[in-house]
Amino acid sequence: MAIQTRTEESFTPAMRTEALEDILTERGLVDPKVLAGLIKNFEENVGPMNGARVVARAWVDPEFRARLLADATAASAELGYKGAQGECIVALENTDRVHHVVVCTLCSCYPWPLLGLPPGWYKDPAYRARVVREPRTVLAEFGLTLGAGVEVRVWDSTAEVRYLVLPQRPAGTEGLTEEELAALVTRDAMVGIASVAAPRR
Ligand code: FE
Repeated sequence: MAIQTRTEESFTPAMRTEALEDILTERGLVDPKVLAGLIKNFEENVGPMNGARVVARAWVDPEFRARLLADATAASAELGYKGAQGECIVALENTDRVHHVVVCTLCSCYPWPLLGLPPGWYKDPAYRARVVREPRTVLAEFGLTLGAGVEVRVWDSTAEVRYLVLPQRPAGTEGLTEEELAALVTRDAMVGIASVAAPRR
């Protein structure tokens, strides 16, 4: 009977990560409790709901909106959203005439404190290459068709500067509370591959 051997490819990323964690813990280089805390934080406290609260505040509070557009890092920190991978955040406001979309052509830089960890498609080489060359086509594939009169601007995130798209507030949401507005705002809208849909009545 042949002995089953593992090739390098047969190890999943999860197995590799676990092995790495074991070695680092064994050597006293990391504390498993600190790691567990970091993971819990990203699972429970950090995610697109943070960015959605920033967007909703900007929709209801013109002074906050002005501060957000002037300095999104400081404005986000007002709501408690700051930290690693969010040291310099720039907000880009969508209008009837301009639509912003964000990519990191080099890797996957993303405003973690506001949006959490990037989705798979954001890291996909095809998205990173194509959204620069043919943004309208890529947006249409995501289901967002923009009129010919709308200028599309593509922003390349870096380790230094990360972007948050401030989507347009949908019509028919005048009566909603800030919390109800935040519930409408999606991660995709804050990266610029979608718009925010009005609530269904
Ligand atoms: Fe990157």
